[in-house]
Amino acid sequence: MRAPSSAEFLVVGSGIAGLRAAIALQPHGRVLILTKADVRAGSTGYAQGGIAAAVGPDDSPELHAEDTMTAGDGVCDARAVRVLVEDGPRYVRELIDWGAAFDRTPDGRLDLAREGAHRVRRVLHARDATGREIGRVLASRLDSSCVTVGDHATVVQAIVEDGRVAGVRYLDAGGALHEARARATLIATGGAGRVFRETTNPEVATGDGIALAYLAGARVMDLEFVQFHPTALALPETPRYLLSEALRGEGAVLVNAAGERFMPRYDPAGDLAPRDRVARAILRESERTAAPVYLSLAHLPAALVRARFPLIGDLCARAGLDLATDRLPVAPAAHYMMGGIGTDLDGRTSLPDLFAAGEAACTGVHGANRLASNSLLEGLVFGGRAGEAMRGGDLPWPAPPTTPGTSPPGTGAPLALPLSEAEIADLMWRHAGVFRDRDGLTRACEVLDDGWNTLVRGLEAGRRFDAAAWRGASLLTVGSLIARAARRREESRGAHWRADFPARDDLHWTRHLYDQL
Ligand SMILES: Cc1cc2nc3c(=O)[nH]c(=O)nc-3n(C[C@H](O)[C@H](O)[C@H](O)COP(=O)(O)OP(=O)(O)OC[C@H]3O[C@@H](n4cnc5c(N)ncnc54)[C@H](O)[C@@H]3O)c2cc1C
Repeated sequence: MRAPSSAEFLVVGSGIAGLRAAIALQPHGRVLILTKADVRAGSTGYAQGGIAAAVGPDDSPELHAEDTMTAGDGVCDARAVRVLVEDGPRYVRELIDWGAAFDRTPDGRLDLAREGAHRVRRVLHARDATGREIGRVLASRLDSSCVTVGDHATVVQAIVEDGRVAGVRYLDAGGALHEARARATLIATGGAGRVFRETTNPEVATGDGIALAYLAGARVMDLEFVQFHPTALALPETPRYLLSEALRGEGAVLVNAAGERFMPRYDPAGDLAPRDRVARAILRESERTAAPVYLSLAHLPAALVRARFPLIGDLCARAGLDLATDRLPVAPAAHYMMGGIGTDLDGRTSLPDLFAAGEAACTGVHGANRLASNSLLEGLVFGGRAGEAMRGGDLPWPAPPTTPGTSPPGTGAPLALPLSEAEIADLMWRHAGVFRDRDGLTRACEVLDDGWNTLVRGLEAGRRFDAAAWRGASLLTVGSLIARAARRREESRGAHWRADFPARDDLHWTRHLYDQL
């Protein structure tokens, strides 16, 4: 569908953050949602374990805040955490009022799960397809008389005029370039897992929003903090399906090839240790034994496992495995970006009229490591708050588009980047993945800088960017930002592990790293 060229409000991305913002905006003007692929293509639809909120009888926002800050390893923004845990229950109850069918106990209470590093049961879930259920409910609340959804529209650039963001340029499915203008623009484009060779993230998670905001001059932060999920299904020629932490929450255990439970040897918290520690333990055990490691649920009642995890059961079946009875080979994979476009508590970025929310944004809520199931909550709460903030203020009316919207930018031959997408992802996995050190990161930076310089020269020279060049440019920009930040932070903290600086260094590094053009 051809999207309109202007609206009062522009939302880029149709995951939990974008949809919740659109719901807040729709009573106040026309909203245009641009989304790269099918509306359900983002990470939200893949979220299995659930959404955390302090709604249980033994829980409180204070307790949820403490667990979030402990996981964040000393660099969470306390104000953002307070907003998350205090607003969270209200936003989640609203979802329930709108029809979200979270699982309940036989006597009708919410069936709350416990996941790693949560001290109480606080994770609401809809079996193991929580994100899909939340996405369904949010999409059902969109008012089609105010909201237009333009799908298969890949946003590639922010339009900056007179120091403010006036909209975006995007490619349609045929590769033609268009402009969409608005009073305020929200980037809700999700994460950047695809910048790494091994990832649980869907195709669309290439960090486009972070890259285009950065290239427009917005401040980005905390990009060295990438969460590697310890348990992605590790079979050749098979996508790295996530085997949710909720499995270990319900009693699944990690075993080596000899069937021995090895986590207690690496960490006193055993199988429920924080994700970064489990990820490193898996890689070390695998190296020590020169064999894969496995997740096993075989000791749990099979009927219970199948009833609680039908989606994960289907994913395993697709790979020829039985979730309830087989040993499942697992390995870490890039999963979640704690960093992103820096925002205040209402989604404002450092560029006027540009907002960001969800995984593309960085409120500082997750610090150096995200507490499990806090990201859906962050998208919901801060997506809603960004929507509220976007509609306020004395914002100018969108100007008409300046291009007729047919030809790609620039002239001449399309820009060719010196690195393929697969090469970027491989480089990032080897040098900026679970284990990092100065030499590897320097190597990654050098190779990426070369590509990045080609990209910047191409932009300055007005070279023609086709869809492949834009896609490569995103990966390159975000990859380079991650590697540079990871090289700068000479300590180990949260998900960021430096083999050459294995200790946390509070004296020098209890702070955020920012990057700005
Ligand atoms: C397998 C998996 C399981 C997870 N499980 C959980 C869980 O149980 N609990 C939890 O809290 N979190 C979980 N997460 C993380 C969580 O799902 C995400 O952090 C969250 O859904 C992100 O929401 P979002 O709205 O920011 O982005 P997304 O849901 O990723 O949506 C991004 C949107 O932006 C669009 N987009 C991207 N680039 C462009 C572009 N250039 N132009 C236009 N549109 C664009 C995409 O198509 C998509 O619509 C999981 C993630 C994965 C991958």
